Order: sequence, then C-alpha cells, then structure tokens
Amino acid sequence: MLSGATCDNRRVMGSEPSYSLETLAIHAGRRPGAESGAVTPPIHLSTTYVRAADGSLLHGHNYSRESNPTRDALETCLSALEGGRAAAAFSSGSAAALAVFNAVEPGGHIVCSKDAYHGIVRQLREIVARWGTAITLVDASDPDAVRTAMRKDTRLVWIETPSNPLLKITDIAALADISHAGGAVLACDNTFATPILQQPLALGADLVVHSTTKYIGGHSDIVGGVVITCEDDEHFARIRHFQAIGGAAPAPFDCWLLQRSVATLPCRIRAQSETAAAIARFLTQRREVESTLYPGLEIHPGHALAASQMKGFGGMVSFCIRGGAAEALRVTAGVRLFTRATSLGGIESLIEHRASSEGPQSRAPLNLLRLSIGLEHVDDLIADLESALDAALQRIPTKT
Ligand SMILES: *Cc1c(COP(=O)(O)O)cnc(C)c1O
Repeated sequence: MLSGATCDNRRVMGSEPSYSLETLAIHAGRRPGAESGAVTPPIHLSTTYVRAADGSLLHGHNYSRESNPTRDALETCLSALEGGRAAAAFSSGSAAALAVFNAVEPGGHIVCSKDAYHGIVRQLREIVARWGTAITLVDASDPDAVRTAMRKDTRLVWIETPSNPLLKITDIAALADISHAGGAVLACDNTFATPILQQPLALGADLVVHSTTKYIGGHSDIVGGVVITCEDDEHFARIRHFQAIGGAAPAPFDCWLLQRSVATLPCRIRAQSETAAAIARFLTQRREVESTLYPGLEIHPGHALAASQMKGFGGMVSFCIRGGAAEALRVTAGVRLFTRATSLGGIESLIEHRASSEGPQSRAPLNLLRLSIGLEHVDDLIADLESALDAALQRIPTKT
C-alpha cells in the first residue's frame, strides 16, 4: 500500500541540497546536449534506439513509446516540482487519469469528487464502470461524506482542489487519512493549483495528476498529462505499464515544449494569482454579480483551508450573474480583451459559460461564468469586464 508519510517536499535532482521551486523549474531534468554542448537541450525525435554488437541497449532506450530521453527529462522535472519519486507523462490529462483508474483492480470501488472535472466523471461512468468497477460520487469538500462513502473494497479516492468550476476546497490531509484508514490510495488532480501553489504529496496524497495542457503548458498549444507518485512501487509500476503498453505516449516535441514552459511556471502562476485576486475583489463590488467564487476571498467557505494548504489562490475565478443563462451569455458577448473559449492556464485571459461547454450533463449553475486569468495588465482586464457588465446591465435584474 502506498503511504504519503514518507514523501518529502523538496527532493531534487539526485541527492544534492534542496533547491527552491523556481530553481527546480529551470534545472531539474535539464542537461546540456552531451554531444554538442548545446545549452538548450536537444529534442530526441527518434522512435528507435541503436543496439551494441552484443544486442544490448546502449543507453537503456529501445523504442520511444516505452521511453524517450526528452520525456524522461520532463518527468524528472515535474516529479521534482511535486516532491515526488517518479512521474509518467501522457498525451493528455485524460489519459493520465485513465492510467490511474486502470491501476485499480477490476471489481474494486472508486470514490470520486462530484465536483471533479466533467471529463473525468464521464470517463468513470462511460469507460471505467464497464470494467466492473463501482463508482461513488461524493462532495469531497465534506470529509464526513467521503468517510461514509468508503467501502471495504474502496481502492482509490479521487479529488480535485480547487475544483472546477465551483472552486470548492477539499482538505487533502484529512482525505489522505480517510483514504489510508480505508486501505485506499488518494489521487489529487492538482491542475488548478500547480505544484507552485499546492503540493498534495507533502500533505499525504499518494498520486498527483495534472492536465499539463493547462498551467504547466501555459500557452494553450499543447495537450498533455502527467501522474506523479510518492512511492515508485508496484502500484506505480502498473501506471508505467499502462504508459508503455496502453500507448498514450506524449510526443517528444510536446515534452520539450512543456519543459520549456515549466521554467516560467512559478512567475506565471504568481502573476496570474495576483491579477485573479484583484478581479475577484472587483466582481464582489458589482451589483449584477450574485456571487464570486474565489478561494482567496475571505467570504469563500474554503478560504481558511485554502490559506492553510496553498501558497496562493490561483488564477481561476468563477462568478454567478443575477439572472440565468441568457444574462450570463450577454456578459460574454460584451468582452473585447477576454477571449470566449474553454480551457485555462494560458497567457491569454479566457471567459466561458461553463454549462454550455460541459453540455446537457453539466452540474454548473446556468448563470455561472468562469474566468481563466492570463498575463495581461490587471487594469485592462478589469476595464474589459466593467464595460461588458455595463453593456449587459439594462437586461439584468438589480439587487433590491
Ligand atoms: C482539462 C482538465 C483535465 C483533462 O485534461 P486533458 O488534458 O484535457 O485531457 C483534467 N482535470 C482538470 C482539472 C482539467 O482542467
């Protein structure tokens, strides 16, 4: 059984002293080209690797789906940032999640947060359930609800915090205790927070999953995912096996781009968090806004918990407009700088009517808009929202 207790927060490139996250983001897994001396590491596009005369592998690599030096470098870097022991990169966040679900013995039981990314919930219902695995969805922000949902055969608890799109906060340390007491592994989707703001392994989680498509990629131009583990054990070997045999391997060029992006992740996420906090404060002052969901606001029900388990509150802000879907869509129609699009974590700010994106099965409130805050100047973003809200104002019922 995996245990979070032995995972230490700042394990690094080998056994050297501890480095801070900013330094790891640049140096972990990054080595100059051995043959050329190129400071920027080369991209290994080769699908196949040469053998010696005796048939042995010269550098341990055989075929690129199984392993690849560019992918290895990225995995080393992401594992170091999360304080993990090993990592497995995939061609999407969804493939990374599927690798985690596949490692659960068929016939077992999975407890998943109701509020998890809608694609993950669909994966459980439409794919994993067909393997004979039982699934229970719970409000994971309530530890008692998770405790009640645990069964003798529960093998995995899956949480996401902050959650999407309601930005609910789940107590990672409490959930690790509940999972381990029940003989289950705790996996935490850390896509919204990034390792810069939150390190679930240090709080007791066994696995961390990211859609690297989002903040880690950071430029809205790569689809990818990763699973990072606290213990490089038999359980993680099943995830590795799924990576090699399941075939959802990331392309070397994508791995290289991701590693380049990681170098600026600490700067980006801090700037995005700062701007998001200012935008959340602005929204609370607008009368067309019924509620603003941002864990950095003191009125947010998860604020104290977020302050204790995160180093910042992130770049995602959701808000509910007074009215319904029509009023919310009127606001999105009026923006000029924000881009109307799904996804998150890029350098450009996005606005999205979440219920429309998720489709008929969506649990998102019809009047909810989700913002992914980019790196534009905060004043320009606020001015854009202000004029979009002003333009929509006539049609929106005002507070009495
Ligand atoms: C986007 C997302 C995923 C799915 O990742 P893909 O890279 O789109 O497959 C999983 N979890 C969260 C929180 C996400 O935002």
